[in-house]
Amino acid sequence: MDYATFVEVYDRLSSTSKKIEKIGILAEFLKRLQKEESSEWIYLLRGKVTPDYDSRELGISTQLTLKAMSASFGVSQEKIIADFNEAGDIGEIAERYSQKRRQRALFMKKLDVKKVFDNLKMIISIEGKGAVDRKISLISELLTSAAPKEAKYIVRTLLSDLRVGVADALLIDAIAEAFFVNEDDAKQVLEEKYHLANDFSLLFDAARKGMLALGEIDLVPGRPVSVMLAVKADTLEEAFRICGTPAAAEYKYDGFRMLINKRGEDITLFTRRLENVTSQFPDVVSAARKYISAKEYVLDAEVVGYDLKTKKYLPFEAISQRIKRKYDIDKLAKTLPVEINIFDVLYHDGKNTLDTPYLERRKIVEKIVKTQALVIRPAVQKIVEDEEEAEVFYQSALDEGEEGIMMKKLDAPYRQGRKVGYMVKIKPTIADLDLVIVGAEYGTGKRGGWLTSYIVACKDGEEFLEIGKVSSGLKEKKENDGQETTYEEMTKLLRPLIISEKDNQIRVRPEIVIAVTYQNIQESPSYSSEYALRFPRITRYRPDKKPDEIATLSEIKKEVKKQR
Ligand code: ATP
Repeated sequence: MDYATFVEVYDRLSSTSKKIEKIGILAEFLKRLQKEESSEWIYLLRGKVTPDYDSRELGISTQLTLKAMSASFGVSQEKIIADFNEAGDIGEIAERYSQKRRQRALFMKKLDVKKVFDNLKMIISIEGKGAVDRKISLISELLTSAAPKEAKYIVRTLLSDLRVGVADALLIDAIAEAFFVNEDDAKQVLEEKYHLANDFSLLFDAARKGMLALGEIDLVPGRPVSVMLAVKADTLEEAFRICGTPAAAEYKYDGFRMLINKRGEDITLFTRRLENVTSQFPDVVSAARKYISAKEYVLDAEVVGYDLKTKKYLPFEAISQRIKRKYDIDKLAKTLPVEINIFDVLYHDGKNTLDTPYLERRKIVEKIVKTQALVIRPAVQKIVEDEEEAEVFYQSALDEGEEGIMMKKLDAPYRQGRKVGYMVKIKPTIADLDLVIVGAEYGTGKRGGWLTSYIVACKDGEEFLEIGKVSSGLKEKKENDGQETTYEEMTKLLRPLIISEKDNQIRVRPEIVIAVTYQNIQESPSYSSEYALRFPRITRYRPDKKPDEIATLSEIKKEVKKQR
């Protein structure tokens, strides 16, 4: 298949914002794509070359892309930067340069999908010495043989900024429309299977073979699976209404979510973003080996840091630095120890337990996890019959320094996603919203050189809508225990994500999620969400969250209503 066929689909997708039209375009294309060599090419529709759980995202830095463009089109980097600042989309600049050069080389061989896919895949695999040069030459190889529009989409893919609006849910709808036209429940099955596999190639491959093949996709220990998320309740009464009476109450630990997998002798650990953090947590691996007695399993847990001296639990920030750490891992495991609180089981000795009711799953957890003080334990849990009992439990959780409690429906299965309402969180309200950074400004004076003011956005369907600018809450330098995020660190996180730059302002790929508190929310014409946060302040950086998990516009509207 020619890459031009993909480009045509990208163009058609970006020419409409109507969901139903996008689904139609995709469904028609998928029927064609199924006859092609590799089902993995479906990743390209979302600007990727790997399954969602593969943490080696493309997201090549803008700098590297500029270098490769300079090498491919014979234009100086300064000129590219100037043009880029003016147009704001490197993809379009690539198209423009390619157009000019194209007039000189009319008889070039057509670029095929295989070449594009294979080169992009190689780019994410290369590491070590000479990696940069190798990457540049792989990109140049593509750009020099690409037609102008192809160059545009190659560059956008490289930057993980495809701009054709194909989110997970939309692609799932398109697969349903392509292969299961008259089967009403297909979409739900596809969604469930997608959460188990997190791999569109696998899903597409099974779907084109039919329902039977789709049914065979199962949870496999060692392959990351999406987690069940909570709905929020403002009161215990509301929590009981959602979960039924009696319900289970558990401590809501303020750590981060970890799925502990064992297959054969291998133990692997994943975050809720599906990142593999096995090598960052050797202490968790060895505790699992010692104190969990089952051959194979997938366990859902919250890993919480505690203070070595006082043995008191620490807030999430304390251990967040362990998630991405690449060096001094053993040392850090000693100075920032964690306790593993296991609250669910998804797979146990040869059987997927997703349909097993909560109470029975809890029994499995209690049976296989041997409590070891400050190392590992089943999460503190109590079956509560009424609000009074729940209130006492809630208070004890707060007294212990926990964030609040979770309430769980006793007979519910384990289901991925937020909407299900089988688990509810209740915590003292600080109004705060998880938002994604889409732009930033450089500071001046003492803060010169750092990005110190951040434009944040909420989500509406597949779109990110701006809702304010926040510049307070981070630190200028490390204080006390060094756990807080500084402006300098945030700058380092944002720089590789820059997609355009003008004066002292940048736009970035929406990647970095922060929690922002505020005094109230006002209607405002200044931002695309039509709302603005008043007196916003960053409460924490959330490396454990993906941009698709941030606050939605409808949640914000709900907050505004509450204010009134
Ligand atoms: P928050 O911002 O309030 O921490 P969240 O947005 O990270 O919540 P939710 O799904 O809304 O995520 O809240 C549930 C989270 O609480 C889980 O993802 C998990 O990390 C954490 N947690 C702590 N203790 C428990 C528990 N006992 N059972 C389930 N989840 C727990």
